[in-house]
Amino acid sequence: MLCAAYAGGSEICQACAQQVKSTPWGVSSLGFSGRRIPVLWREHYGGPLTPIIYGAKYRGDWGQARLLGACLGALPKPWLGNPPVVIPVPLTNKRLGARGYNQSQMIAAEAARHWGLALKPRWLKKTKHTRRQATLSLPQRGQNLCESFQAHANLAGQRVLLIDDIMTTGATLREAMRAIDKAGGTVISAAVIAHVPKDQRKNNSFQRPFKPLRASSKSFNTTPAPKHRPCSMSF
Ligand SMILES: [Zn+2]
Repeated sequence: MLCAAYAGGSEICQACAQQVKSTPWGVSSLGFSGRRIPVLWREHYGGPLTPIIYGAKYRGDWGQARLLGACLGALPKPWLGNPPVVIPVPLTNKRLGARGYNQSQMIAAEAARHWGLALKPRWLKKTKHTRRQATLSLPQRGQNLCESFQAHANLAGQRVLLIDDIMTTGATLREAMRAIDKAGGTVISAAVIAHVPKDQRKNNSFQRPFKPLRASSKSFNTTPAPKHRPCSMSF
């Protein structure tokens, strides 16, 4: 947790900045279409930035979203070769309307600025309103997202870096990859603020202590994530 002096916004004190700096970051990978897509993450879920993710998400603090993007953008560039375009994982217009902004887009904008990449938030849309992933059991998540994204024709031939706030099973990122793939684009890597490691998912220690909304106790069961299969509506 960051100190009490931190009251939101994009500035944190030196001690907190040091704490964030010394928190380990890493790279995991997601299997997609026969490839392993690297996923850069800034911290394990529950680290000092995790409460800020919820602050940015539910209290609408742009400064906090920018702070998160800056922490991500301070890491080494998560790609090799030609620079990709950055695409944030989108919200539906309905949810965007309710929340006012997409925090993943704010995070992505700041990280893209640090890495010198072009941000293309309009190239991927969430067209199907889905239930909040957090309210579902792990096996339900892939099905919930089935065919929920639509990618723009401009993506044809583009290399893409996908950015989201939290990766749990990777179901959201995979569904976004599927839509981008359909449009002829290639996701070469992804980056998130917080990553929930497999053992944290399995042993039921994955709690959401920072989420200010009421969460049902059924939300997190001990069922291991299923091997990903294309959902039935895909073909
Ligand atoms: Zn502090």
